[in-house]
Amino acid sequence: MTEHLRVLITVKTFPIPSSKYDELVCTAGVNEQGDFVRLYPINFRDLPFSQQYKKYQWLEVDAVKHTGRDSRKESYRPDCDSIRLRGEPISSRNNWEDRARFVLAKQSGSIEELYAKQELDKTSLGIFRPKEVSDLIIAPTEADWKPGFKAALMQQRLWENRRASKEPLRKVPFKYQYRFSCEDVRCNGKHQMMIEDWEIGVLYWKCVDGGATPQEACDKVKQKFLEQICAPERDTHFYVGTVLAHPKSWVIIGIFWPRKSVSSLAQGSLF
Ligand SMILES: [Zn+2]
Repeated sequence: MTEHLRVLITVKTFPIPSSKYDELVCTAGVNEQGDFVRLYPINFRDLPFSQQYKKYQWLEVDAVKHTGRDSRKESYRPDCDSIRLRGEPISSRNNWEDRARFVLAKQSGSIEELYAKQELDKTSLGIFRPKEVSDLIIAPTEADWKPGFKAALMQQRLWENRRASKEPLRKVPFKYQYRFSCEDVRCNGKHQMMIEDWEIGVLYWKCVDGGATPQEACDKVKQKFLEQICAPERDTHFYVGTVLAHPKSWVIIGIFWPRKSVSSLAQGSLF
């Protein structure tokens, strides 16, 4: 059954090549009640410009609930032609409060709480505040896509004779993980979770294209994603979701990082 959804987009993950659908991003957001929605698959770079949504922008879309393989609670298959943007992205003015009203409406207390919800009703998306983020771990990974992916991608391009101008999708040759703990008695304090936020890859390539070495680019990534985004004066929250192929694996798909409010900073110093 087709449903008409109104979604505030909050995360976009790295595009991943797929032999079946060209290249895909996982897009997620919340509805007006703050419930999470996943829109998948979307071939983002092939959308007409008028449909290329930004983060924190509302859109309307016709979609059907996934059945079969993707039984995750929030997953919808969008009719990409029906995507309509609604207004400009919500700005971060007022310390992100206009965003927080929707984004934090249904927040979870910890990753452990999300694991429990997953058991209960197949919850596969959420947002929570880590108690402490202690490190950002960077490790080299494959420099290029798996040969099968790449061949399929090239084949499809030739076949459909399209998008000659579109730059081929570049793979980031590093993987990034946050190490953190939660405010939860069940927490072992030792989470190490992959970061799939598209922005981390965008920043990496921006540095390299600007003349940085891969090492310098990684230093820049760490400076932004650890020192800035997880700074003590930030009220950092992680958007997380499960991976379709590995339902028990949760990854970080975005970050919400307003400043701590003046009152909570004052409290911190008093107690
Ligand atoms: Zn934990």
